Amino acid sequence: MQLKDPSLFRQQAYLNGEWCDADGGATHDVVNPATGETIGSVPLMGAAETRRAIAAANEAWRQWRRKTAKERSIILRKWNDLMLANLDDLALIMTTEQGKPLAESRGEIAYAASFIEWFAEEGKRAGGDTIPSPTPGTRIVVVKEPIGVCAAITPWNFPAAMITRKAGPALAAGCTMVLKPAESTPFSALALAVLAERAGIPVGVFSVVTGAAREIGAEMTSNPTVRKLTFTGSTGVGRLLMEQCAATIKKLSLELGGNAPFIVFDDADLDAAVEGAMASKYRNAGQTCVCANRLYVQDGVYDAFAAKLVAAVAKLKVGNGLQEGVTQGPLIDQKAVLKVEQHIADALAKGARLLAGGKRHALGHSFFEPTVLADVTADMMVAREETFGPMAPLFRFKTDEEAVALANDTEFGLASYFYSRDIGRIWRVAEGLESGMVGINTGLISNEVAPFGGVKQSGLGREGSKYGIEDYQVIKYLCMGGI
Ligand code: ADP
Repeated sequence: MQLKDPSLFRQQAYLNGEWCDADGGATHDVVNPATGETIGSVPLMGAAETRRAIAAANEAWRQWRRKTAKERSIILRKWNDLMLANLDDLALIMTTEQGKPLAESRGEIAYAASFIEWFAEEGKRAGGDTIPSPTPGTRIVVVKEPIGVCAAITPWNFPAAMITRKAGPALAAGCTMVLKPAESTPFSALALAVLAERAGIPVGVFSVVTGAAREIGAEMTSNPTVRKLTFTGSTGVGRLLMEQCAATIKKLSLELGGNAPFIVFDDADLDAAVEGAMASKYRNAGQTCVCANRLYVQDGVYDAFAAKLVAAVAKLKVGNGLQEGVTQGPLIDQKAVLKVEQHIADALAKGARLLAGGKRHALGHSFFEPTVLADVTADMMVAREETFGPMAPLFRFKTDEEAVALANDTEFGLASYFYSRDIGRIWRVAEGLESGMVGINTGLISNEVAPFGGVKQSGLGREGSKYGIEDYQVIKYLCMGGI
C-alpha cells in the first residue's frame, strides 16, 4: 500500500490511549480478498485485554461526561476534519482489506465522517425538557445523561461507517466506547483510532480491541460496567449477543440482517427503476444489509425490466477495486461465495431461469459474476434468506396487494424499495410495507440525517438523524418539591 501517511497503517490495537499487542503476543493475519495476499496482522486479543479497555473507558467516562457538549463537539469536529483530510489513504486501506472499488471506499469515508460531523452538532441540541406539574409547589425537570461505557461490535461490509455511526453519537452524548471491529477489516478501524488520537480524543474514551470475536464479545456482554451494546451484523449473532446481555440488562442497539424487497409497479419509470436496482443490488458486490434481495416485478413490465436490467449488468466491470473503472470487487471470502452459489443452485433446481452470470468469475479468488435470475418463486431459498452477493432474483406479481403481502412475508424488516408514479399507490404501499426504511423511486437511502434501522428481526434502535443520539442517553427525571 502506497500511503501518503504510512503511520495510518497500524498493526497494533489501541487500548487506553496506548498502541499494544495481545497479552500472549498472538496475532492474526488479514488478507486482501482481491489477491489472496496477506496485508499484515493484528493482535489476537481476548477477554483480559477487553476487560482492561472497559475499565479504562469507565475511568475516562468520569471526565468525558463532564465536558460540555460544545467541548466534545470541537474535538469530534477535528476527528471529522482529519478523516476528510486523509480520505485517500483511508480509502486505500479500505479497498485493500475489504475489496470494494476505490470510488465506493472514498464515498464511504466521506459518509463515515458525516456521522461524526452530524453528531458533533447534535450533541449540543440533545437537551431535556420541563413538564407542567400536577402538584402545587413542585416542578418537574427531565435531563438527558450519557448512558455510560458502550461496547460496539461492527461488521466488515462498511469498515469505517459502521464505526462512526456508533462512535459519533456515543461520544457526542458523553459516553465512552470500546470497539471490536470485524476480523477481516481491522485496519480501517485502527486508522480511525490513529486519527481519533490526533484529534485529541482523551485517553480511554475510544479504544479498539482486535481479535477473537467470541471471547471479546463474551466479556463485552457480561461485564457489568458496560451499560450498552451496539452491534451491526447478522441476525444470528445479534440474537446471541442479546441473550448474553440479558443477565446484566444492557441497553441494546442492533442493526441486523435484511431481506429487502424491491418492487417495480407497471407505472414505474423503468429506466429509473433499473438504475435504482443496480445501485441497491450491486453496490459493494451486493454485500450490504439494505441491498435489494428480492425484486418483485409486475406482470406487464416484467420482460422489459428484465431485459434492461441484464443490459445494465453487462456493463459492470469486475476486478480489483484498486483498478480504474472497476465497479464490482471480490466478495469478502469463500464462505460468501458459497452462499451465493447455494442460492443460485437452489433456484435453478426449482425452475428459475439464468439471464446473466451465475458462476465464479474467471479472475478467481472470491470474484463472482454479476447474476440475474428470472422466474424466481417464494419456495426458493433466496426468498427467505439474504444472499449478500451480486445476484438479482426476479419474482413476478399481478396486484398491489399481492406485492405487499409477498414483500412482508419475511421475519426481516430493514429496508424496502418500490417504483411507481401514482401518488395514491405510493402512499398505500409505503404504509403497507413492514420495514424501518422505504426507498420510493430511489435505490439509495442512507445518509447521516435520516434514521437508519429496522423492525421485526432486523433490529432495535436507530442510527443517524436526530433520533440516533437517544440510543446513547438515559432520561433522568428531577422532581423538585417545596417550591
Ligand atoms: P457477517 O456474517 O456479516 O460476518 P457477523 O454477525 O458474523 O456478520 O459479524 C459481525 C461482527 O460480529 C463481526 O465483528 C464479528 O467478528 C462479530 N461476531 C461474530 N460472532 C460473534 C460472537 N459470537 N460474539 C461476538 N461477536 C461476534
